[in-house]
Amino acid sequence: MSRRKLIAGNWKMNKTAAEGVALVADIRKGLPEGDLPEILVCPTFTTLGAVVEAAKGSPIEVGAQNVHWAASGAFTGEISAEMLKTTGVTHVIIGHSERRQYFGETDETVNQRTKAALAAGLVPVVCIGETLAQREAGQTMDVINAQVRADLAGLTAADMAPVVIAYEPVWAIGTGKVATDEQAQEVHAFVRKVLAEMFGAAVADATRILYGGSMKPANAKGLLAQPDIDGGLIGGAALKAPDFLALIEAAR
Ligand code: PEP
Repeated sequence: MSRRKLIAGNWKMNKTAAEGVALVADIRKGLPEGDLPEILVCPTFTTLGAVVEAAKGSPIEVGAQNVHWAASGAFTGEISAEMLKTTGVTHVIIGHSERRQYFGETDETVNQRTKAALAAGLVPVVCIGETLAQREAGQTMDVINAQVRADLAGLTAADMAPVVIAYEPVWAIGTGKVATDEQAQEVHAFVRKVLAEMFGAAVADATRILYGGSMKPANAKGLLAQPDIDGGLIGGAALKAPDFLALIEAAR
């Protein structure tokens, strides 16, 4: 089974609308001819419309960084999947470790948000990953097993078709510490094994699993060459067109 690689930029709380539009324009200008990986950028809520407009007619897709599970109601500060759809986005990041760490996101809310995204026809990019303390305590696979099972609980094999998983070791996000190719591959292969147990071999084989955590042009080639690494979810290196373009190139 060949899985098309996906290079996804998580802009986090960076870039005004004008800066986001300029970044997309620079990425567009620098895209090489020929086969490309799937390309996604995820700006802030308030800039989604402008970035969607800037990406129109290009291979660049746009996603949000979070979604609420309810359709509407008394949830101050939240945004529903249908509201996101009206901006033209196609994807949404769910359960990023910063949301888990700073905003009380749990596997249960990740699961609810994932279901809401799917119901609205958005592609969920579901983030999982262990902390440094968990890795050092030898708990990585237990943590990953529990997260995958809880975050995707109640989904059917058919529901899984669009789902993307991002393995992001928390200790590697924004720290400059990258997992080695072998460390990342080991977890990715394990995630695929859990998916096979939950949904069957065909789903496990077809599901894309991205690596995230200080991925940059200097380390991307080795990571992306691993058999179970199907792309990257990239923070810092997604904020500069030359770096993001180099990651696209590394995925070709
Ligand atoms: C992320 O935000 O998902 C991420 C992986 O960040 P960075 O690439 O900066 O480590």
